[in-house]
Formats: sequence, C-alpha cells, structure tokens
Amino acid sequence: MRGGGHNGGGLGICDDGLVIDLSGMRSVRVDPAARTVRVEGGCQWRDVDHATHAFGLATPSGIISTTGVGGLTLGGGIGHLTRRYGLSIDNLLSADVVLADGRLITASESNNSDLFWALRGGGGNFGVVTSFEFRLHPVSDVMAGPTLWPLERGAEIMQWYRAFIAEAPDELNGFFAFMTVPPVAPFPETLHLQKVCAVVWCWTGDPAKADAAFAPVLATGPALHGVQALPFPVLQSAFDGLYSPGLQWYWRADFFNDLSDEAIALHMQHARQLPTMHSTMHLYPVDGAAHRVGRNETAFSYRDARWAGVFVGVDPDAANADRISAWARDYQTALHPYSSGGAYVNFMMEEGEDRVRDCFRDNYSRLSAAKREFDPDNLFRVNQNIKPA
Ligand SMILES: Cc1cc2nc3c(=O)[nH]c(=O)nc-3n(C[C@H](O)[C@H](O)[C@H](O)COP(=O)(O)OP(=O)(O)OC[C@H]3O[C@@H](n4cnc5c(N)ncnc54)[C@H](O)[C@@H]3O)c2cc1C
Repeated sequence: MRGGGHNGGGLGICDDGLVIDLSGMRSVRVDPAARTVRVEGGCQWRDVDHATHAFGLATPSGIISTTGVGGLTLGGGIGHLTRRYGLSIDNLLSADVVLADGRLITASESNNSDLFWALRGGGGNFGVVTSFEFRLHPVSDVMAGPTLWPLERGAEIMQWYRAFIAEAPDELNGFFAFMTVPPVAPFPETLHLQKVCAVVWCWTGDPAKADAAFAPVLATGPALHGVQALPFPVLQSAFDGLYSPGLQWYWRADFFNDLSDEAIALHMQHARQLPTMHSTMHLYPVDGAAHRVGRNETAFSYRDARWAGVFVGVDPDAANADRISAWARDYQTALHPYSSGGAYVNFMMEEGEDRVRDCFRDNYSRLSAAKREFDPDNLFRVNQNIKPA
C-alpha cells in the first residue's frame, strides 16, 4: 500500500507484487463546528493543512508536508504538535478500512474497537485505510523556527536542551538536530554548509507569552535564532525544499528515556562525521500530551520514552549509498545500549521480526491476535510486519 511514498525502508512499493497506490484519493473535508476533518487515504499532510488552516484549525502530523497521512498516522505520528496535542493517533476518531477479504468496515472506539486499537501504531498491517477522521485544535499562527549553535558547542547545548525541554510547558515543542546548514536564504552565508546543532521550535501558546518562553533559549547565545510568527502550514512545509522527492534514504532509530552525558559524548563523535549535507540526526520529544495516554491504550507502546531518535543518512548520489548507510548504522549501534530498546516503526528499515517485536513490547501479542482476525493469511506484508498469531 502506498500513501505518500515517504517510507524510508521503501515499504510503499514492492517488486513482483501488487501496489495499491492511494495517491489519487486526496479529498479533505473539514467540519469546523464539530472540529473534525475527514481525510482520504492517499492524502499528504499539506492537503490537510491547506484545508484546516482556512478555519484556524490543525491536527498533529509531522514536520514535512509531503509525508503521507496514511503511513505517518498508522505508525503513530510525531511532529510539531506532539507535546501539546499528542500523536496523530491520539487525535484519530475513526477510520474506514478495506480488509484483506474485501469487506469495508469502520473502526472507532465504539465500532470494531480491536481493529481501531491495532491501527493506532500497528502500521499498514490490517487493511487499506481509505479514510481517516481526526479531531482538530485551534492552531493558526505559531511562533516557530530553528535556533542554531556551532557544532563545537553540541555537548553543552544537548545538556541544556535535556533539562530545558523537560521543564518546558506543553505549548512549546522543540526537536533537537545535528545538521549541515543548507547554502540557501534565509540562512546567513557565514553559516552555509557549517555543521551545527539545532532545535526546531513550535510555540502554540499565547503569543504574548512567547518572548518569556524563548528567553532561556536566547540566553544560551545561539549563532542564529530564527523564531518568528508563521502560519502553521508555512512551518510544516519549511523543510520540503531540502527533502525533495528522489533523494536516497537510509535510516535507523531508537526511543530514548534519557540522555546521559556518556550518550551525549557518543552523539558528538558521530555528529562530527555527518556524511553528507542532507544527513541528520533528530531527537523528537514524545512526552507532554503523548505521555498522558497509557502504553496499552493504543498499539504504540513507548509512551514512557522521552524522545524518538532517528539517524538519517540522505544523499542524491547513489555512489554515496554505502557511506550514508554505514554512518546511520554505526551511529544507532553506538547509541542503542543507551536506548529504551525499541524504535518508532516509521523510522525503521527492514530489520527483522525480533526488532518489530521490540517496537511493540507487550502490545505485540494483541497485535498478532488482531492480525489473525483481520488478515490471517498475511496478505498485507510489505510493512513492519506483524505475524498472525
Ligand atoms: C522526509 C520525511 C519526513 C518525515 N517526517 C516524519 C515526521 O515528522 N513524523 C513522523 O512521525 N514520521 C515522519 N516520517 C516517517 C513517515 O511517517 C514514514 O516514512 C511513513 O511510512 C510515511 O508514510 P507514507 O504514507 O508517506 O508512506 P508510504 O511509503 O506511501 O507507505 C508506507 C507504509 O504505510 C502504509 N500505508 C500508507 N498509507 C496507507 C493507507 N492509506 N492504508 C494502509 N496502510 C497505509 C503501508 O503499510 C506502507 O507500507 C518522515 C519520512 C520522510 C521521508
């Protein structure tokens, strides 16, 4: 099944099989009174943002607007609104699903609730979701953008970030990154192609309180503080040009409960070796509202983790395939002993059955039972596959 075609492991397409490409199904309908949105299964997030922003509303998604609603949501959905409003699945109200046997059913808390539980984190294992219904929140303009520091200050800034984000209100989201500054405006030329550490912020609280919220950030003396008032869809699409279609990706991932000084030293070692301009490492907070859902309430298990980490090797040139993948693998291997044990399924390659089990911990057996009920012959198996019990 192919939604937005963004799956890093290439699971939106297969050889010698049938691809169900949903990209022709892109309709979005907002109900502003009920604060809900109905989204067809092939939508990209930009389709949703475009429609909901007109009403001053939004639902949690990711950080790049061309990512598919289908794959991102079914794996969990982590982005700029996570701390304030939870994961995408925490805002999913219902889904229309075509099952392996051809039946079309609706899943929600009150209807086919076992399937609804499994869809919220279990990925594309259970059927083709033709339509999603999400809850919306009043999000219109946000105070958002990146703060950059020179890479040499990386260890100090990671330690500062670890403490700051733990105490920050849910209205403030900020994911940490090691990255190379792209040689384009609005970045000043002095920073072009410099390796830096960064936090990309999104403040959804009272605009009058934004200065106070960002005062401790400015007090660190950054090289650039690019936070400004932006319409939410502008933030959502700010990195689309950097991560354009056709790039070659190889990524690895893990959840993290903490960020020890020892782990930070390893981060620095690998950050200095960022292999290409597009390659990056992100730590996405998964606390705040996402922590207020129990680890067995949805299939997404790591409700106790503080960050979803991802080690991302990206480059347009096939000649660099080995370089970017070796860097991402080595980085994750080094940090894995400091991780929570499993990874966010949407940030994985094809890494084997044991690794998939690690992602779901004690939720795996219930997922496996749901798989037996809804797809006993494992028709839908080009995904982070859950085996039928
Ligand atoms: C540039 C980029 C940025 C990203 N940013 C984020 C982010 O900020 N937050 C985040 O959480 N993730 C992010 N991701 C990861 C993303 O969530 C996964 O790669 C996800 O699989 C993409 O979904 P898709 O529909 O675009 O993928 P596709 O490649 O089209 O599909 C991947 C899998 O999703 C399933 N699927 C897709 N649509 C449906 C459907 N309608 N019904 C049933 N199954 C379906 C299928 O199992 C398929 O195998 C990003 C990925 C990229 C490449």
